Amino acid sequence: MPDRRHLLLLGGGHAHVEVLRQLGQNPLSGWRVTLLTREEMSPYSGMLPGVIAGLYRPEQALIDMPALTARSGVELLLDHCTGIDPRAKQVRRAGGADLAWDLLSIDTGATPDTSRTPGAAAHALPLKPIDALLPRMREITEAAQAGQRIVVVGGGAAGFEVACALAVRLPASVTLVAGASGLLPGFPDGLRRRAARALLRHGVALTEGHNVARVEDGLVHMEDAAPLPATAVIWATGAASAPWLAETGLARDARGFLRVDTCLRAEGHDAIFAAGDVASFPDPLPKAGVFAVRQGPVLAANLRAVAMGEAPQPYVPQQDYLRLLSLADGRALGTRNGFVFGGRWVWWLKDRIDRRFIARYQN
Ligand SMILES: Cc1cc2nc3c(=O)[nH]c(=O)nc-3n(C[C@H](O)[C@H](O)[C@H](O)COP(=O)(O)OP(=O)(O)OC[C@H]3O[C@@H](n4cnc5c(N)ncnc54)[C@H](O)[C@@H]3O)c2cc1C
Repeated sequence: MPDRRHLLLLGGGHAHVEVLRQLGQNPLSGWRVTLLTREEMSPYSGMLPGVIAGLYRPEQALIDMPALTARSGVELLLDHCTGIDPRAKQVRRAGGADLAWDLLSIDTGATPDTSRTPGAAAHALPLKPIDALLPRMREITEAAQAGQRIVVVGGGAAGFEVACALAVRLPASVTLVAGASGLLPGFPDGLRRRAARALLRHGVALTEGHNVARVEDGLVHMEDAAPLPATAVIWATGAASAPWLAETGLARDARGFLRVDTCLRAEGHDAIFAAGDVASFPDPLPKAGVFAVRQGPVLAANLRAVAMGEAPQPYVPQQDYLRLLSLADGRALGTRNGFVFGGRWVWWLKDRIDRRFIARYQN
């Protein structure tokens, strides 16, 4: 049907899986839809530390994109997007011809920032992309012995959870480098104290106050502190934007993420939307999966509205949100509205929320 218009979805992130699910329930008449994403299995980040801890099998935390797109009536292209030309309405990709679109939606996420620390890109393993992480994690797990040292760099939620997971799973010794901003910046003090106690219980050495200066094979050099020997280095620092976004000409914030308006439209472009970590909202939001998830239904509604010639609706971010951190030992810590809590019931709650979320896209 050559006269059908084309909605192109870039990236199989947390917001797009909801767009796909809704398209499966209610197809967009007069439009064909394509998903261009680089991974066949899209990870659900909330369960990744559980995979590393051995609490979930990898497939329990992964969304099968061929199956989801097939159910949604969406064509799937597994490839890397390498550029966008907003004027020509074309997307470039690594392994094939450019793709033309009438309506474009971008949910390509972010990656841990290895660019600012010499040696990190070559010698450290970033937590994303997942298709590189999981096989390498398997190698680390299989090779781990007492006496080996694993250094996790990044004291945010992901680094903390991964350090707990590795310490519980492996006989190796684990160090968490939380850097100058310390352990779990932005979390209430009560939670940070409980998190530090949990690390102590798990035998994780915590270093705060010094950033990593450079990484070389087997060694993590610190600013103003002794270097740390490392059999493996896991990189879990703040999110960086993809370099190819710079050449799109789309408006970006100081960190390189795409500026969107309150309706998730790329600034100055009515036919380009962006959601999740790749998007920079007018009131900056943390780079957390919970926002990508909550933007999913709004993005789905707005793509449909614009496709039908109607006006999109604003996305209103929640003021506070439930943050849950797995301790990898059947317990979790949580916080909401300044309250801090922890224990087995918190893990039960997190596990239930995560399993319910992923079931929506797996079945
Ligand atoms: C270990 C870990 C644990 C975390 N735990 C939590 C948590 O408990 N709670 C929380 O709120 N946040 C958590 N986060 C943060 C969370 O992962 C991100 O905020 C979230 O994944 C962002 O979702 P997204 O939809 O923006 O992008 P992503 O989930 O990163 O998805 C991006 C998609 O785009 C695809 N893609 C990327 N680039 C290209 C390209 N060039 N071409 C084609 N396809 C591309 C990728 O393959 C992927 O499918 C965690 C992160 C990590 C690493």
